[in-house]
Amino acid sequence: MDFDLTKEQKMIRDEVRNFARQEIAPKAEEMEATGDYPYGILEKMAELGLMGIPFPEKYGGMGSDWVGMHLCIEEVSKFDISLGILLDVTTSVVAQEIFNFGTEDQKKKWLIPIVEGKEIGAFALTEPDSGSDAGALASTAVLKGDEWVINGTKQFITNIGLDNASVVLVAAKVESDENKNIISTFIVPKDAPGFKLGKRYSKMSWNSSATHEVILQDCRVPKDNLLGDPKRGYAQHLAVLETGRISVAAISVGAAQACFDDALNYALNRCQFGQPIYNFQSIQFKLADMAVAIELARNQYIKAAWLKDSGRKHTFEATVAKLYASEMAEKVVSDALQIHGGSGFMNEYAVSRVYKGIKPLQIVEGTSEVQRIVLGRLITKRKN
Ligand SMILES: Cc1cc2nc3c(=O)[nH]c(=O)nc-3n(C[C@H](O)[C@H](O)[C@H](O)COP(=O)(O)OP(=O)(O)OC[C@H]3O[C@@H](n4cnc5c(N)ncnc54)[C@H](O)[C@@H]3O)c2cc1C
Repeated sequence: MDFDLTKEQKMIRDEVRNFARQEIAPKAEEMEATGDYPYGILEKMAELGLMGIPFPEKYGGMGSDWVGMHLCIEEVSKFDISLGILLDVTTSVVAQEIFNFGTEDQKKKWLIPIVEGKEIGAFALTEPDSGSDAGALASTAVLKGDEWVINGTKQFITNIGLDNASVVLVAAKVESDENKNIISTFIVPKDAPGFKLGKRYSKMSWNSSATHEVILQDCRVPKDNLLGDPKRGYAQHLAVLETGRISVAAISVGAAQACFDDALNYALNRCQFGQPIYNFQSIQFKLADMAVAIELARNQYIKAAWLKDSGRKHTFEATVAKLYASEMAEKVVSDALQIHGGSGFMNEYAVSRVYKGIKPLQIVEGTSEVQRIVLGRLITKRKN
């Protein structure tokens, strides 16, 4: 067993670490305060090749792997969770879904610009009446001549509000004689007739993440925009969502690590009762527990990504990573704020911003409750 990262993985991680410190850190607070979309940073991320790390060079990618991708998601998320989520959606979910299930023509047309970061991908599964029970979605797609006509409303869709988010993968039910409950996935360009960008959500946090409603009213796309097997659209999506779960774990670890670093620094420098608060055992033990939790969560997401890179099943490991890391992050960030005392409540300390942004990591890509349901099923079949 080899726990060392490869030279290439370390190189990419270090490059992104420097980039995140220089380019993201100074702007993170302002982005959250203004809600401005980070076009300048996205352009630089694309230049670095960040959106295409695990994809072959043939499709504009770096030809590296998912471990490398997730190390970079962790680095970016140390300073801005919204950018981590953007990468999760565009690379781990959308680009991968087109790469795994698309035709060669679809890859040339839709995948390459996303992998190169010129375009940003979005996916639309969630609807007002189907969230965790995503299979109960109500959107429909009907083939009329050479076009699919799609109707439905999707909510909470990440990235789609960006000017360069030109394509969204839409899940919709296709009625056929044999089965009225087939879910297929469609590649829907934002300029398709009948596509309407709905309201931009006002959120508790993640303000520079472009979350919108999507309305499809007799939205027409060419017949060829069906992605993959028409009967397995939902299964295809669930398969790539496993990677999305690893990504959410990496984001959680990044956010927790950054707050831990700040809290340690604060504890070493803040003096009360004539000494640094780090000297008090209750503060030291808190930091020790935080370090343990971050270490375990990081090991778990890397293990899940490594299994994926090895072409092995990783549903269990990805689910454990997502559940543990997202819940760990909420506790670690809360403890980090506590160590900052009253200062942690003030906006000038990054921990106050991260505290508000940590909660949704237990909701996106399947809630904690759903992760436990998945694990509840898997543990009965698992042998060690
Ligand atoms: C910031 C943000 C970005 C998002 N981006 C996207 C996106 O890009 N694309 C997309 O398609 N979706 C996106 N989503 C939607 C997200 O995937 C859903 O919010 C999530 O799956 C939960 O669905 P819901 O909000 O409808 O909650 P519900 O499913 O209504 O759940 C409400 C509560 O009930 C619990 N619950 C539900 N069923 C069960 C059960 N069987 N047993 C026990 N507890 C249960 C849930 O865990 C939760 O606590 C995003 C959400 C957020 C907050």
